[in-house]
Amino acid sequence: MREKSIFSFRRMIIIIMVVINHLFLTTSVTQSGQSRDVFRAGTAKIDITPTKPVKMAGYRSRTGLSQGVHDPLSARVVVFESNGKRLVLVSTDLIGFYNGTAEHFRKIILDEFKLKPGELFLSGIHTHAGPSLTIDKEKGHPNNLEYTHNLKDKLIETIGKALDNMSPSRIGVGIGYCPIGSNRRELKFDSLGNSSIKLGRNPYGPTDKEVLVMKVTKPDGPRSSEGRDETVIAALFDYATHATCLGGKNHIISGDVLGLAEQFVEKILGEGVIAPAFAGASGNINPWFRVLPAFNTEPGWIPEPVLLGTVLGEEVVHVLRDIEKVYSGGEIKTAFITLELPGKLKNEVTRSVPDGTVMKDCPPTPLNITVARLGDIAFVGISCEVLTEIGMEIKAASPYKHTFVITHCNGAAGYLAPQHLYIEGGYEIKSSPFAPQAADMVVKQAVKMLHEL
Ligand SMILES: [Zn+2]
Repeated sequence: MREKSIFSFRRMIIIIMVVINHLFLTTSVTQSGQSRDVFRAGTAKIDITPTKPVKMAGYRSRTGLSQGVHDPLSARVVVFESNGKRLVLVSTDLIGFYNGTAEHFRKIILDEFKLKPGELFLSGIHTHAGPSLTIDKEKGHPNNLEYTHNLKDKLIETIGKALDNMSPSRIGVGIGYCPIGSNRRELKFDSLGNSSIKLGRNPYGPTDKEVLVMKVTKPDGPRSSEGRDETVIAALFDYATHATCLGGKNHIISGDVLGLAEQFVEKILGEGVIAPAFAGASGNINPWFRVLPAFNTEPGWIPEPVLLGTVLGEEVVHVLRDIEKVYSGGEIKTAFITLELPGKLKNEVTRSVPDGTVMKDCPPTPLNITVARLGDIAFVGISCEVLTEIGMEIKAASPYKHTFVITHCNGAAGYLAPQHLYIEGGYEIKSSPFAPQAADMVVKQAVKMLHEL
């Protein structure tokens, strides 16, 4: 009996020491007075609408400059920090960072803010109704060169602002579904009965209808028995569709379906909330109404990009309003790798070249994979146009509760298609620089990196 009570006393002393030690470690305070491990978030948004006519990105057939603006383009930044680790998510209403601009912008941003390579997700929503970026003084249009230069300054300013306004924060994730994305690999037959895959609509093809929504809040008001009131500061969302309701004949600037969804969410949620969109794996997914020549202004008609953007935006708001639990984001972990992927050989493209295009062997192509986690929420950034099957495979294999697959992120390496589609051919296969086995290598690497976080 006596021995047992001595044992309990010793045990109690040890427990007290452990608790004191833990308290001491977790309340180390930074010079700014903030506890180092407090999970904090900051947001900022800036207008990046071109102020001069610019060359537009996405369709080679379109050579003229932009002729007006339907809706504004923005860059939206959400930053997270915990225990000295940071995660900077940047969404821009642009096609993506082509023509070497990803490397150029990333280097400047990483240096400026002393970020690790994995701490920055620099992405575009892939609108085809925005300016193309260029840093090529020989070939670039002067207005696009100027636009790109100003964009760099604006991104630095906006990321700086988001880092400066960080405050203790909470996050929560919800899942919705949206039907506006359509598989675009349509089987067509010529007059002789020969089949081939063309860009169109394939209602039988796979689509990822998931809308992932992250609510970011900051505590507002005194603590009560029901917790604290929380004010929403950001509604991030991830959906797999090209932002291409508008086609190559359109010369009006717009964020297209994803940009219009962002604008809708911000309008509904009101001042102080930003709604950055991220393009999921959508290499073979177009909006249901696709590549239209213009915004239809017939009286009574809702222009298709507005209609589809509103459907998606309303789902984001529905999901956001249903997210009841928000919690501290916990540990931030990030990783970054550049994979050298094997290039496609011309004999690997079977039915893709009916138009007489001369195919060449492609050299090995580098691809960046960026992964991050905030507690049980993961992010996978891939520097190319990823076909939807690949994104779904990564999500299914991810060890985390929610995984945001973000494409057009930290680079622009072209289409990445699953191996089985190389037999069918089609536009994405013809344009891809990658060998058929590349997609499996990317999935394995991304999942491995998620496990190692
Ligand atoms: Zn594309």
